[in-house]
Amino acid sequence: MKSLLFRVDRGTFIHLTSAAEAGSESALDALRELWGYGQADEIRCWLCSTVVGRPIIGLIFPDLDPEILCGVALCGSCAALPNVEKFDRAFEALRASERTLH
Ligand SMILES: [Zn+2]
Repeated sequence: MKSLLFRVDRGTFIHLTSAAEAGSESALDALRELWGYGQADEIRCWLCSTVVGRPIIGLIFPDLDPEILCGVALCGSCAALPNVEKFDRAFEALRASERTLH
């Protein structure tokens, strides 16, 4: 089991989202893939490590590079947090995970 985190080019993500909304199956598949729908593993909430259900509740926030967006999965209780707290904690967890990696 693991936390879901993806980084995607902002323009690509916006393009995929609007294409999916317009009914493009391939764009929808690409988005499902980003959000981990194809993974056999259970996905954990980015903030509290609870296993998240389906459909996945996603949080999108900008990386340090404004052209890159980060996407993480949240459980229902974390998704219900006030936006400011949610984004602060998501960003903090991202920095912490990068410190562990490097
Ligand atoms: Zn949570």
